[in-house]
Amino acid sequence: MSHTAHLETVVREIAEEMAQRTDRGEVASYIPELGNVDPGHFALVVTDAEGNVAAGGDADVPFSIQSISKVFTLTLALGMVGDRLWRHVGREPSGNAFNSIVQLERERGVPRNPFINAGAIAVTDVILSGHQPREAIGEILRFMRFLAGDPSIVIDEKVAASEKRTGFRNTALANYMKSFGVVENPVDFTLGVYFHHCAIAMTCRQLATAGRFLAYSGKNPSTGLSVVSAERARRINALMLTCGHYDGSGEFAYRVGLPGKSGVGGGIMAIAPGKASIAVWAPGLDKAGNSHLGRIALEALTKRMGWSIFGV
Ligand code: GLU
Repeated sequence: MSHTAHLETVVREIAEEMAQRTDRGEVASYIPELGNVDPGHFALVVTDAEGNVAAGGDADVPFSIQSISKVFTLTLALGMVGDRLWRHVGREPSGNAFNSIVQLERERGVPRNPFINAGAIAVTDVILSGHQPREAIGEILRFMRFLAGDPSIVIDEKVAASEKRTGFRNTALANYMKSFGVVENPVDFTLGVYFHHCAIAMTCRQLATAGRFLAYSGKNPSTGLSVVSAERARRINALMLTCGHYDGSGEFAYRVGLPGKSGVGGGIMAIAPGKASIAVWAPGLDKAGNSHLGRIALEALTKRMGWSIFGV
């Protein structure tokens, strides 16, 4: 069997296995609009270096990418200010919940890493500086469309509004950072941009395509165009491995063995360096706020394909 045929079979089998499971986790309800999503969905898409796409399940159904957007805002912010970004945010795993406030007090308002909420809000604030919120949102959306090669990607305004209405914790985190001068723009503006980039809706097919530059040393292998340097791609992957799943990051590395970033919409983008860019979606979450079946599906995929970065 060719490599592509083998991959297609594995993806199809995993989608079938996941469709039958009854343990589906809990859909996030603290953002009311996400609570309406059917936990029965499942999608898995894998793109390889040659541009082959293996897809299973609801691969073309858009979902709220939520915190997966933080990988792309990190990439944009690094492109804008380079290593100066690290004055605003750290690079260590947090070991705390995604929306925890305790660590911020101890560390004088500088969040542990760009993927917990406080860190992502600090990164968004850097992107916003010198721009109007509308321009910053437009810039992030254009970047996603460019990476996915799909101009049809939009922001789900209902999700953004739902999150704004109930974003008490994020508002607290942003105000707290503002008191230390880590957030520079008006808190409402920074949060407005943050809620909107979290509310970008994408399909697994679009997301797997958008992640390709991280799998192939910063380049889109189909066009040869460079998005970031190979060094930057490697470092973003390192951050995803250590911090991409909040306080479930150790467990994800242990079971899946790939850099990955989850979102409370139930999506996970995972990168097998040199081999594949992967997107999975199953809306039910585990206790750490990561997709329950998404993680199980990725564990099965890396095992069957021998893709863990730690060996077969
Ligand atoms: N927009 C979500 C929040 O700020 C992101 C959390 C996530 O996806 O993990 O609460």
